Amino acid sequence: MTADANDPINALLAAHGLRRTTMGRRVLGWFLAHPDTSFTHAQLLDALSADPDVAVDKVTLYRLVDRLTQVGLLLCRVDANRVRRYQSMPASVLALPHFECQSCHQDKPLSEALHDQQEALERASQMAVEALRSLGYRDLHVDVAVRGLCVDCAEK
Ligand SMILES: [Zn+2]
Repeated sequence: MTADANDPINALLAAHGLRRTTMGRRVLGWFLAHPDTSFTHAQLLDALSADPDVAVDKVTLYRLVDRLTQVGLLLCRVDANRVRRYQSMPASVLALPHFECQSCHQDKPLSEALHDQQEALERASQMAVEALRSLGYRDLHVDVAVRGLCVDCAEK
């Protein structure tokens, strides 16, 4: 029981209000073991089905992936072919790049305005974090804020 509670995957599931099912543990464990790779539903199904001892139900798997995404444990992106790809949530994305208007003081995420560049920005943040971590820096987090005038204020 105590060993079970100390398991980081169980702890993550519990902290996000999810049941600690065998499938939940397998799926989240898979994403955490491959933090730099995003997977489509089909790729995930193939990967998890490789173990002949465990039957993977497609519908259960897809529901679980949706749920993990809803609670913020997975990041979902739509690729160039309009296919959804899932990845364990990179630490740098937890603080989303945002815009602060210096006139009306609106503060909003940049994802909508930036579209594709959002991903480049996230990647750059992640690379900076990794570079610092390799130098021995710890407990890193990135906060990207762009300050200026929003479109409404700029037009006034
Ligand atoms: Zn403004």
